[in-house]
Amino acid sequence: MAGIEAQPGIMEIALYVSGESRLAGRDDVLKLSANENPYGCSPAATAAFQAAAADLHRYPATDHAPLRRAIGEVHGLDPDRIICGVGSDEVLQFVAQAFAGPGDQVITTRHGFAMYPILAHAVGATPVTVDEKDRRIDVDAILAAVNDRTRLVFLANPANPTGTMLTDTELRRLIEGLPQTCLLVHDGAYMEFARPGYRDAGLVDDYPNVVMTRTFSKIHGLGGLRIGWGYARRQVIDVLNRIRQPFNLSNAQMAAAEAAIRDTDFTARCAAENDRWRRWMRDQLVQMGLDCDESHANFLLLRLAGSEQARACDAALREAGIIVRPVASYDLPEGLRITVGDEAGCRRVIAAISDFMATQRGSE
Ligand SMILES: *Cc1c(COP(=O)(O)O)cnc(C)c1O
Repeated sequence: MAGIEAQPGIMEIALYVSGESRLAGRDDVLKLSANENPYGCSPAATAAFQAAAADLHRYPATDHAPLRRAIGEVHGLDPDRIICGVGSDEVLQFVAQAFAGPGDQVITTRHGFAMYPILAHAVGATPVTVDEKDRRIDVDAILAAVNDRTRLVFLANPANPTGTMLTDTELRRLIEGLPQTCLLVHDGAYMEFARPGYRDAGLVDDYPNVVMTRTFSKIHGLGGLRIGWGYARRQVIDVLNRIRQPFNLSNAQMAAAEAAIRDTDFTARCAAENDRWRRWMRDQLVQMGLDCDESHANFLLLRLAGSEQARACDAALREAGIIVRPVASYDLPEGLRITVGDEAGCRRVIAAISDFMATQRGSE
């Protein structure tokens, strides 16, 4: 390959590692490693996907109009300010590509989502990691790190893998402290679990330099289909649409997503069940004397005594057929991120953790 060289930054990218889904020799695996919806997706979405099979020879619409209209209706948004992508990851990629490049800085936070530095490197920009305070994003630390080369600030709210959240007041203080030349990317992948009525779109209405993103992968249970969307001022969306491939979403993706978002009963039921079992699971962990912050998402971050105990706990869970997510790469070596499953899943993982803790006391 002499002479063939990747663009600057690309070789800095450490490959993304996704949640595992299989364990050798087991057919009863409980996967709690990728924040998937334990209830699957809306039956209406499955039906729409199947119906799309009749028209596989047809090119899809390039403007995603029916899907944007549905999102607009359900969330009370202007469809002209919505952009849809192949997962919200693609929307985040458009933002990085359109607004950052070599010489620019992109701020992420210490336990922030692994995609953000990847996206910064991919466009030749420099990711700058800002410390958090007790696993919460620290607005003052971000503002202190901003300089005239900062183009983007990426944050997830609720955050992954910590599950913590910034208040509206903190968010507004952050945005008001940013220079107008710097965009805040407010990644709301888990927002539907946190506060169903919360309008992060209010941030887009009030400030020109905010992009919010949402996904169909989490509460809508369509992670396998890859659909997400973003909302911003019209000028920002206009920029992003110029680099979007015209046929980025298939007919099947758009039809399933539209049916999913319109099934507001399903969404509400999933949020309520998640709330209930997340609360139950955290209570159980706390009663065992384990550390676990309040979470606003569909997972909990269990913190063990240290990296060694976290590894031992992960191994014990695998032995019991349960896959959770070690988060050492998020600078949380003592942590295991556990997706909130359905009732059976939650009871099974809690029983396995309880068994593990009993062996720990035995070996003291
Ligand atoms: C899961 C997740 C997403 C969603 O990614 P998709 O590409 O839409 O599947 C985005 N941001 C965060 C923080 C996530 O955890």
